[in-house]
Amino acid sequence: DKIKNKFKADPKFEGTTYDTWIATVKPIAYDGDTLTLELPSSLHRDYWEKMLKSQLVEYAYSITYKNISPKFVLEEELQKESKPAAKPADGGQDSYSYTDTHLEPNYTFETFVIGQGNKMAQAAALAVSESPGKLYNPLFLYGGVGLGKTHLMHAIGNNIVKHDPSQRVMYVTSEKFANDFIGAIQNNKMDEFRHVYRNVDVLLVDDIQFFGNKEGTQDEFFNTFQALYSNHKQIVLTSDRLPNEVPKLKDRLVSRFAWGLSVDITAPDLETRTAILRAKAKADNMDIPADALGYIASQIESNVRELEGALSRVQAYAKLNNAPIDTELVANALRPLKLAKARSALTVSDIISKVASYYHISVKEIKGTKRVKAIVVPRQIAMYLSREMTDNSLPKIGDEFGGKDHTTVIHAYDKISRASANDSDLSKQISDIKTELQH
Ligand code: ADP
Ligand code: MG
Repeated sequence: DKIKNKFKADPKFEGTTYDTWIATVKPIAYDGDTLTLELPSSLHRDYWEKMLKSQLVEYAYSITYKNISPKFVLEEELQKESKPAAKPADGGQDSYSYTDTHLEPNYTFETFVIGQGNKMAQAAALAVSESPGKLYNPLFLYGGVGLGKTHLMHAIGNNIVKHDPSQRVMYVTSEKFANDFIGAIQNNKMDEFRHVYRNVDVLLVDDIQFFGNKEGTQDEFFNTFQALYSNHKQIVLTSDRLPNEVPKLKDRLVSRFAWGLSVDITAPDLETRTAILRAKAKADNMDIPADALGYIASQIESNVRELEGALSRVQAYAKLNNAPIDTELVANALRPLKLAKARSALTVSDIISKVASYYHISVKEIKGTKRVKAIVVPRQIAMYLSREMTDNSLPKIGDEFGGKDHTTVIHAYDKISRASANDSDLSKQISDIKTELQH
């Protein structure tokens, strides 16, 4: 009621606005976080979502000093459901609402740095956001992890809503679509599901490679796609690979996905990586000299997410040590990342080749069964290093050595650990091999 009075007192809402939209609302639950309001019709719901929600949150804050999240339910829904209890914000049938865009506000075109590997994708995304449903439909963005597909997808949605807030944009991951679909079947709510997914103006579905293997979901998505497409609604999809490379994706989806435009994003070059770091550092008000930024960019080559991770790491490291960020500090902060990387990149067969060449014997001999000392010791060292320097399981390591049992690997490991503790020559040889393997 206090909130209602605030609305009433506001000249913006006086008269019919108040009487029609606000006076008719019934608060039905409040748990300190979610305020559930019962509305007489879906028109009311649209109106509240679009016009009154932010005001409501503001008023509620001025009274309770809490950020409440409003939830709107319709009278008729309450009658169907026995318990109107608030459900978690994400997942669950009640989260269906097309005014709920799930857009991430920070992922915009303004914060997206353009470079060689992404400029086509960025241009296509921008074009689509400027005239949704008219240019490329569907727009299909693909490429490896952490290269900005999700970012661009949200940027499209954000840009569309910014220019026309009445556009119903919905972002979902392919998993959410699949879960919603399965939930709808289980709860007998297919009508509602279809109503939500087929009444959007723009549907953004992220990571569709996870549709592979999900037959029923694919069929439903096919129908959703058809319904939207035939109404000239914009569809944007992302995947880590091309549609025809997604295992078990049905042909009819593969062919639909190729109707519009497919653009790939490739890994950023050094220049782009540096530019991204510069932009992030600036956004976070971090003061990092150019050579230190360049150094980070030169160390992290694979993807932008790792680049961001490295930057946060450097930031935290500088704070902890209370030291200015320079190239030396960056090198120290990033060393563990580099080691972890070397570890994950190293294979048992790299180790076997290295050990073989170090002791001037052949790979075949290491993998074989000959029991002469000149071969047995290198073989055991290679097993020892495989266990130390890779994450392979013991049976896997045994396999790599010509199909030996995992107990053989354990035995070799114990033997070399013990021997190297008392034998400085041996331990020197092992550390030499290790150093060579790390380069
Ligand atoms: P993907 O979906 O391709 O796996 P994301 O879109 O999630 O990758 O990107 C990973 C992170 O890197 C996000 O935080 C994103 O904002 C950032 N990012 C990726 N590309 C760029 C870019 N060109 N400019 C700025 N930030 C980027
Ligand atoms: Mg993504």
